[in-house]
Amino acid sequence: MSFRIKLVISYIAMIIFPIILSAIVINALIYSSAKKVCKIYNFKMNSNPVTLVRFIVDMHVDSFSEVSNTITNNPESLKDVKYIKNIDKDLKNNNSGIVVIINNSIIYTSDIIKKLGIDAKNIKNTEVKVNNRDILENQWLIKHENFSFGGNNGVVYLITDTKPIVSIVKGLIVSSFLSILIILILTDGVLTFLVSRSILVPINELKKSSIKIKEGDLDFNVNVYNKDELGELCIAFEEMRFKLKESVDVKLQYENNRKELISNISHDLKTPVTAVKGYIEGIMDGVADTPEKMEKYTKTIYSKANAMDKLIDELFLFSKLDLNKLTFNFEKINLINYLKDCTEELKFDLEKNGIDLVFIIDIDEDEDIIALVDRERLKRVIINLVDNAVKYMDKENGIIIIILKASDNNALVEIRDNGRGISKESLPFIFDRFYRTDFSRNSSTGGSGLGLAIAKKIIEEHGGNIMAESELNEGTAIIFTLKRFKQI
Ligand code: ADP
Repeated sequence: MSFRIKLVISYIAMIIFPIILSAIVINALIYSSAKKVCKIYNFKMNSNPVTLVRFIVDMHVDSFSEVSNTITNNPESLKDVKYIKNIDKDLKNNNSGIVVIINNSIIYTSDIIKKLGIDAKNIKNTEVKVNNRDILENQWLIKHENFSFGGNNGVVYLITDTKPIVSIVKGLIVSSFLSILIILILTDGVLTFLVSRSILVPINELKKSSIKIKEGDLDFNVNVYNKDELGELCIAFEEMRFKLKESVDVKLQYENNRKELISNISHDLKTPVTAVKGYIEGIMDGVADTPEKMEKYTKTIYSKANAMDKLIDELFLFSKLDLNKLTFNFEKINLINYLKDCTEELKFDLEKNGIDLVFIIDIDEDEDIIALVDRERLKRVIINLVDNAVKYMDKENGIIIIILKASDNNALVEIRDNGRGISKESLPFIFDRFYRTDFSRNSSTGGSGLGLAIAKKIIEEHGGNIMAESELNEGTAIIFTLKRFKQI
């Protein structure tokens, strides 16, 4: 959810939640206050609690009806205190009381009126007012009626105590106000906490991550907590960390390669140079005192110089390939014809060493196999692979087979020999630069360790792959693929 939508929703929730919660709480408070009022005035709550005050006024007026009847039909009975006490009993249930005055002398005053501290003689002849403000201000309701009988004049007051309502209403107002305040603090507090947490957590994560990067630590992951703008920022930050780590690793790898290259070059050049120096010193010291010895010495110097020349050539080629500075001239070639020519060319020299070179076309379809190839570079690959097969040949009747296979999209060239093979431990590393098995490192046949690394780079430039299969003492097969060129 986007950050903007999140903020809008939280603002709306900050308004709606307190309103709904306040309405529920205030309703509950009104209900419980109304219940209290009902208990005090002894009547059932069967209507909206808000109209209760009106009910009390009605009740007050109703309770006067019995007194009114007496005044109309039998006013003398108002002289009888016993009779009035009976009426008072009922009135007491409704939190009301009665005052009867005949000829200015008080005949009866209810206890409830005494408790209210109303001076029965000085009750103002106020009529009942039915608005709530009067109830709240006066704290009681008064209704009166004059009567006369046999020359006597009297007045009856009916008074209802409304003090409890006032305190209940006051309590209701205070508790409603407090509830609204608590609801506002809680809902807005919780929502603000949730929104600010969704901002602060990713910001803290980004802060921690940038400190780590500043300190050079790139081995961690930036956690993504939300799918909002800050989440997107965390994803971008993680991508940046990943790219940075990649480039640092590549730099480190280059640095290690460079160091390894320098140490390998110095080592591989040092050996023939020392040998050449030794032979020349021998000549200068007159050790080669016969023409045969002289010929042997010069031939050795020549072969060492040749080995150095070859090594420098390979190094030069490899470093050009490594820096992507070698240009390739790709052209469409027919692989069957090309490999046939290569076999013919190499066959002659190999036969002199007693090794047979065979070319097999292992293709079902009767079709030319065309690929986009740089003739010179591919030749270099084939020469390197055949050279290796010769170098590591340990059988009397050595045989090297070049096999051409094809799939729908690829041509597959396999150069298989029956030489000494490669151990399982060495096999995964033979395409690494300067890698030589222990055997070739100690033997005179061992080359620079660049032959297969060069072949791999050239094949990869052609968009193909190179791999090896080998069985110790059985032989080795180096297989490479080339993308087939198909006319559409
Ligand atoms: P080198 O110049 O030492 O031959 P390469 O890169 O051409 O270097 O080969 C790497 C190593 O792989 C060699 O030192 C050798 O031990 C092993 N190797 C390559 N080709 C063959 C093969 N046809 N038979 C046996 N071992 C091989």
